[in-house]
This record gives sequence, C-alpha cells and structure tokens, in this order.
Amino acid sequence: MKLYAEVIINSDALDIDKPFTYEITEEFIGLVKVGQWIKVPFGTRTSVDGFIIKLIEREEIKEFQIKKIKKIEILDPILTEDDLKIVNYLKDNYLCKYIDAIRLFIPQGILKGIKNKHKMIITINREKYDVNIYERYKDVISIIEKNDGKFTKSELVRNFSLSLYKINKLIKEKYLKVEEETVYRYNIKEYNTYSEKFLNLEQQNAIKTIRESKNRVFLLKGVTGSGKTEVYMNAVSDALKTGKSAIILVPEISLTPQMIERFKGRFGKEVAVFHSKLSDGERYDEWYRVKEGKARLIIGARSALFLPAKNLGIIILDEEHENTYKSEQNPKYHAREVAEFISQIRDCKVILGSATPAIETYYRALSGEIELIELKNRVYNKAMPKMEIIDMREELNSGNISMFSRKLMHEIKEKLRKKEQIILFLNRRGFSTFVSCRSCGYVFKCPNCEISLTYHKNGLLNCHYCGYTKRQEKLCPKCKSKYVKHFGAGTERVEEEIKKYFANAKILRMDVDTTRNKNSHEYIYNAFKKGEADILIGTQMVSKGLDFNNVTLVGILAADMSLNIPDYRSSEKTYQLITQVSGRAGRGDKEGKVIVQTYNPEHYSIEYAKKYDYEGFYKEEFTMRGLMNYPPFAKILLVNVSSKNEKILIDFMKKLKVELFKITEKYLNIEMLGPVPCIILKIKENYRWQILLKGDLSLEFCNKIKDRVYQLNKNVYNDIKISLDVNPNSLS
Ligand code: ADP
Ligand code: ZN
Ligand code: ZN
Repeated sequence: MKLYAEVIINSDALDIDKPFTYEITEEFIGLVKVGQWIKVPFGTRTSVDGFIIKLIEREEIKEFQIKKIKKIEILDPILTEDDLKIVNYLKDNYLCKYIDAIRLFIPQGILKGIKNKHKMIITINREKYDVNIYERYKDVISIIEKNDGKFTKSELVRNFSLSLYKINKLIKEKYLKVEEETVYRYNIKEYNTYSEKFLNLEQQNAIKTIRESKNRVFLLKGVTGSGKTEVYMNAVSDALKTGKSAIILVPEISLTPQMIERFKGRFGKEVAVFHSKLSDGERYDEWYRVKEGKARLIIGARSALFLPAKNLGIIILDEEHENTYKSEQNPKYHAREVAEFISQIRDCKVILGSATPAIETYYRALSGEIELIELKNRVYNKAMPKMEIIDMREELNSGNISMFSRKLMHEIKEKLRKKEQIILFLNRRGFSTFVSCRSCGYVFKCPNCEISLTYHKNGLLNCHYCGYTKRQEKLCPKCKSKYVKHFGAGTERVEEEIKKYFANAKILRMDVDTTRNKNSHEYIYNAFKKGEADILIGTQMVSKGLDFNNVTLVGILAADMSLNIPDYRSSEKTYQLITQVSGRAGRGDKEGKVIVQTYNPEHYSIEYAKKYDYEGFYKEEFTMRGLMNYPPFAKILLVNVSSKNEKILIDFMKKLKVELFKITEKYLNIEMLGPVPCIILKIKENYRWQILLKGDLSLEFCNKIKDRVYQLNKNVYNDIKISLDVNPNSLS
C-alpha cells in the first residue's frame, strides 16, 4: 500500500480544474494532512502551489508516471475538512472552479509571502536581580519597568532618550530580555463604551426564541428602528459566553461605521474587522487573529464567511435583502445560502435580519422552512415617520422645473430654521446623467462600454462602468453646435442646487466620489452625527443602518430611478429603498417626516411603502413573480458571453444555442431565452450576449450546461469569456 494525495493546482486554466494525484514520499509521511498548502511539480514547471483535498491509501499506481510532492509550505492545514465541504458546495451550486472556491479561504497575501510582522520588545528579566545593578542603571530600568514589554530597543532610545549602550549591556548580562511579539497591522482604534441596554418585551422574546428554538435559521423581521442590533448583540454575547465565535455580515463594511462602533464599544478587542479596503498585510493579520482564536467576533463583508472561525456559534446577516451579499465574481455565491449551508455542517445558528426581507426569504419564512421572529414596533414605540408622496408631473404642470418640489423646499426651510437635520437621497452620483447635443441629438458615450458618460462638476466626463474619463469639449463633436446640454441629475448637482437656495446651510455629501479613502466614510458619518452639517446628501450609502437622533426630514428625490431599471427585482428594490431611506428619519425624540418625489405615484411599490405595508407589497409582488415564473418560483441560470470580436461572439452564440437546446428540450419545465445582446451592449471594449435559462433547474442540469458550455469554449478559449451566474443580481 502507498499513500497518495489529490491536489488542486493554483492556476486559472480551465482544463486543469480537477484533482491531480501525487505520490507522498517517505519523508512526508506522518506530516501530510488534508487542507495543506504544498509545492508540487506541474507540467514543465518544477514547483507550483497546490492544496491537498484528499489523501488516499491504495496499491501502487503503475499504469502511469506519478509525480511526487516537493514541499509542505505550512504544516498547519489552511483548509479544514469542513472548509473542503464548503468548497464542494460552492463548486456544485455556483458552477465555479475548485480553485475559485479554495481561494476564498486563503488570505491573498499568504501566497505572495506575507507573514506575521514581529517586533523585538524589551522586558525586565524577573529571574535576575541585583541591588547594585538596579541602583547604577536606575534611569534605564525604571523606565523599562513602567513600560514593560511595550517597546523595542530603538523605540526606547527614541521615545525616552535612553542610552543604547546601557540597554545593550543589561541585555548582555541578562537583566533585560528580548522577546518576539506579533504586531497586528490593523489599526486598533479605541471606541467609546457602548453599554448594554435593557431589552424591551419584543426584543426579549426574540432572543428567547433564538436561544430555545430547535430551528437553526431565523428571519428577524423588524421595522426600522426596532432595535435589531441589540438582539444581534445579545445573541453574539450568548455565543461568546459559551466559548464560541460569531460572524456578523454587513452589506459592505465601509457603509456601516456604526455597526463597528457599537460592537467594538461593547466587545472590545475580541472584534476582527474584515472588508475590501484592507491591505494584504491587514487582511492576513485579521485572518491570523481569527485562526489563533484571539478574535472570536468577526464583522465583515460577505467574504468574512470564509475566515477560520473556531467553534462557530452564530452567523448574522444584517440587511439580508441587500444585493451585495451576492458575489459578482467567481464563485458567484450568495452569502445567505452559504451561511445556511455552513450552519448545517457546523451546527450553528443563522439570523437573517431585515425590515424588508427579500421576497425569497419571506416566502421561506411563511412556508415554515425558516423561523420567523418579528419586531413590530420601534423602540419606545416611536412612530414611524409620516410619508408624503409628491407627484412630480403636477409640479411640472404648475411651472416648477426645479428638482425639488415646493413641499420639499418648504420642509427643508422649516427644519433648517429649527436646527434639525436633513437627509436627501438620490441614487446617482455625479452632476448629470448624460450629456447630449440639443441640435443633433449626439450623446457623449464611453468608447469602451457604449454607456452614456456622466458629467462631473470638475468638467470631466466619467464612465461609471470602467472609469474612462475625458474633458468635455465645448462644441458638439458631431455638428459643432454649441448647444450641448446636461440632462438628469446626480448627487453633485443636488449639492449645488441646494447651495443656491440655502446659502447658509452646511452640507455633506456621501457617495463613491467622496468616500474613496479608507476612512472618509467614517469621517462624514461622525461629522454629521456631531451636528457639523445640516444636510447630508447621498446615494444608497445613506440608506442603510445609519442612526442619527436629530434627523427629522428625509427627502427621496427620484423614487423612480430604481423602478426603471430593466430587472425583475425593480419593484422589490424600490420598495426596500424607500423603506430603508425613510427609516433614517424620526429616530430621536422628534417626529420624522419623509417626502418621496416620483413620476409614478400609483405604482404599487410606492403605495405600499407609503403605508409601511410589507405584507401587502409581498402579496402583490409574489403573485407577479408567479405569473412571470421568476424566483422563488423558478431558478435562473444566466450564461453571459463576451468578446472583443463581435463576429466570433455571434458565431459562438449560434453554436451555443443549438448545443444548449439539445439539453433543454428534454426538460418540459425549463425555458431558454435568447441568445440576445445584453442590455449593456459593451463593457470595457467587450461585446456582450446572453442566454437565459429559467425554470426548475436542478444541480445536475446546471452542471450539464456548464460542461457543455466549457467544452464548446475550448476552441475559442482566447477570444471568448464566459460567465455562468445562478440567480444573478441583475439580468443586464
Ligand atoms: P434597527 O437596526 O432595527 O433599525 P437599531 O438597532 O439601530 O434599530 O436601534 C434603534 C435605536 O434604538 C438605537 O439608537 C438603539 O441604541 C436604540 N435601542 C435599541 N434597543 C433599545 C432598548 N432596548 N432600550 C433603549 N434603546 C434601545
Ligand atoms: Zn450636435
Ligand atoms: Zn466605460
């Protein structure tokens, strides 16, 4: 009998997306483990990275030549057995490659050689003492005693002007010790204590259910301001008390400084924070702290699910309906689904929290698949803010051509007078949505993406898809007319208009353009919280989670923006957005007010949002989904194909259609739509086409499609890029 390892090679090439067998030679026996990062020879290369997914003992393989493992990079396995189960789950369910799934578990920096950072600190050697020495070196020793184990040699010299000669002498004679200590690269900022609150009855019941129920997955449906965070904290505290760890997912961490503030304020150093703006070093350190069990409470964006949390007790998804829980890169997983899978294999609880659950989630709660817990009232029974819908067509008819209705102007003036704060929401950044020539109709478009360019106040035209930027010409490039005009509006424009009307108001703006730096989001948040501004203007960044006491007016400037996107979820998104944004008003002692401007006041998503009637909205939307056969009634598999060469692409789509039809025709309840050009025809110079499969798609069916698609792709591998997406966020 001999020992072999099945190894996944760290490479993107499609045709090596399978386990390769390697021999384990004498020297590694007893050391190899499943989940280890190793080096192996591959093809013509003598040493590449690989990961062991299985060990097999069997008769010696003689039929073909077997290569041997070369080196074990780190003895401690990077992936656990449970992790490997998740890898398989991801691969089967989201049609990705092994390596795509494995990479989720590995901090990027580690393969590039990033390691722990250490510093050599100086401490007193308590085992050695001599009165005379202590007397003679009193100046040095007394300072080191006060700062025992805090500083390195050079820091002591620099900070306290100590003599390097004396320190060295004391080290040499063993009165001082030099010790290695890990330095964590994440800034360990101190937060104000966030004290535990006495839970109200609804919150107490919620936590009791979570504690005592035999169910593992819960939907915590609580209106905005009902105190969901307090329930999360108690559930987390339960887990920590019993020696377990907890993961709290938030839609995008930079969007929720408040969540971190509260959790760090209550649980202190136990908290690890994990998000996309960390450097490789910081990321590695947080991963390491979790692995070592030094941080048992993880707050992070969706990828935090794959941190090596020990003895996991609970996973929480705050705002579970958010788009950002679905990954747009391979593996194109949904964090909610993966969290539930993890809860099965690791036997932990999952709380899905939202005021406006995804239709799919609420459906599962009603059908009893997951347990529904409700918080129906705001804390202290505060009233929900009053919502008023303004028909912008009437404004126009009465001669108001500005972007603010008369009612909104009036309310802004009132609140400014009373020194109360205002949030204005518009889901588009920039100054205008497109620029075109009034005389010939020419529209400025991105040459790479075929998307209209957005004008920014600095005089630049900007593509929001690929970042292409150019200065706007004064004359129309086509007809040379000077009547080039800006249409539509973004947050920058709102800011400028508000300044025109209210010259003395202090304004902050929060959108992608103002939050490019790591801490800018937190900075704006704190400034507004401290009352340093009267009006906060922002995109969806201001819609989530923010809890400001003094905000009494929220203005939603164009509720239709999300209604008009070509997507089966547009009504749901609109309902959610209006509810979430308006939830920012009236959270303090004063009553809140919301003004929603729209050209579509009779749309059901707006009517139900006005009444805070989630059930009503759900019923109507659910019926609609049934009629159109969309999720949760059906599953969707989007096959998106792109290429720089339009002709090759179209030829490929024709062949693909024939091949996929051969599979789908055997299934009565599966529809194939397309091939058609995508709504966004071109992104970054790539033309885009798609085929959509809809219906009762089993895992087996999806994997058949995957195999066929990739088989066809082999011939045109360099020209064609393929993306497979199960239940995609967007169909465009
Ligand atoms: P949600 O996430 O449901 O919108 P939050 O968790 O932000 O609501 O809570 C809203 C506000 O109520 C917060 O300022 C929070 O500190 C406060 N709060 C929550 N629970 C209680 C409680 N039991 N007693 C007093 N204040 C509470
Ligand atoms: Zn023109
Ligand atoms: Zn572009």
